[in-house]
Amino acid sequence: MFEPTVIARIEQERLSLPCWAVDPDLFFAELPAEVEAAKAICAACPVRQACLAGAVTRREPYGVWGGELVVGGTVIARKRPRGRPRKSPVPEPRPERPIAVPTAA
Ligand code: SF4
Repeated sequence: MFEPTVIARIEQERLSLPCWAVDPDLFFAELPAEVEAAKAICAACPVRQACLAGAVTRREPYGVWGGELVVGGTVIARKRPRGRPRKSPVPEPRPERPIAVPTAA
């Protein structure tokens, strides 16, 4: 769903949106590879920015919009593969040691 101005632009310029040519289910896929494929389809879309902005504003629950995966209205960098969560926590990275700076004597 777009803002009326974007719909007017699509109609006036007779734009053809890339997602119109593929199965819409791809944009709501569960598999990470399919999510990435949907993102790639959006890359050439002339209304990509408006699509993403609308999804975030509407707080879309899930899907690829404007070339990004949106979950609960927030852009998520990457779809995590299915699977059980870890049984043990991931160890924290070791803190860096302070560098000893020699002082002038
Ligand atoms: S950016 Fe939006 S309108 Fe454009 S192809 Fe992707 S889902 Fe379709």
